[in-house]
Amino acid sequence: MLPTDIQPIASPKCEFDLCDDTVVKGRYCKKHFNIAKAQLKADQAQDNLKILEKIYTHVTVKSVKGCHIWQGQPNEKGYGRSTVNGVRMYVHRIVYERTRGVVDFGKMLHHKCGNRLCVNPEHIEVVSHLEHGKKHLSWRGK
Ligand SMILES: [Zn+2]
Ligand SMILES: [Zn+2]
Ligand SMILES: [Zn+2]
Repeated sequence: MLPTDIQPIASPKCEFDLCDDTVVKGRYCKKHFNIAKAQLKADQAQDNLKILEKIYTHVTVKSVKGCHIWQGQPNEKGYGRSTVNGVRMYVHRIVYERTRGVVDFGKMLHHKCGNRLCVNPEHIEVVSHLEHGKKHLSWRGK
């Protein structure tokens, strides 16, 4: 339990170096919040770049259809997988999320080009489970 003499401050001070303003957003004053946000975005982009570079050392770009083909061993379903921050994920999802943003929970990624080993985000669309089933059904009919 928190000792009674430990009281949270109502208006904490901005965490930016040498700034004495009152916190308005998050841990920063209004002015420094925007700077901190820009820095965070830059850090995330840097982080994503590192992961993408790692993935693409195992990818061959095909000039014909523009597919970016994963060269690693596919799993039993025919998809490539890799580990990011200790989590094993499909490589096409890693590339999609690190270039386009995180996909909502429950949504699926569909390969418009029909190649499961392709990681090109241009060739991938986000669909619901239902939509995805329909897409594959129409393929079979062709
Ligand atoms: Zn500040
Ligand atoms: Zn493709
Ligand atoms: Zn699909």
